[in-house]
Parts: sequence; structure tokens; C-alpha cells
Amino acid sequence: MKTFTCKEIMNTMGGCEMEFTGATPMDVASQCSKHVASSTDEAHKSMREMMLNPNHTQEDREKWFAWFQGEWDKKK
Ligand SMILES: [Zn+2]
Repeated sequence: MKTFTCKEIMNTMGGCEMEFTGATPMDVASQCSKHVASSTDEAHKSMREMMLNPNHTQEDREKWFAWFQGEWDKKK
């Protein structure tokens, strides 16, 4: 199990101090995406817009996930 803060998941481009714990990167990412999708504030805007952008392709998603997987691996 690893724990990431919302801020870490958003690559410090906003977010908050809420923590998400999971056994896999996908688990943590899906918990955070629900949290971001239900947010309405400025701090989560960049991530929310990326997620809701209709031009956001599968390739973008994979690119983001590859980045997050790297962060996951770095974390003890
Ligand atoms: Zn947050």
C-alpha cells in the first residue's frame, strides 16, 4: 500500500492535502479522480479540466498514467 496526497497526484499544479491510499497506482488514481471530479474549486481546476476535456484522448491518459506509475515506483 502506498499513500499519495492530492497535490502529489496533480504534480503540485494545485490540489489539496487529502490523502489516497491504495495497493496499485490505478486504485489511487481512480480514488483521486472521483475526488477531483466532485471538486468545484480553483485548486483542482487544471486536473478537472484535463479529465473532462472531450479532446482528452486515450493517449493523453496513458501518458499521464505512465508518469504516475513512475512516481509510484519512486515512492517507498
Ligand atoms: Zn484535492
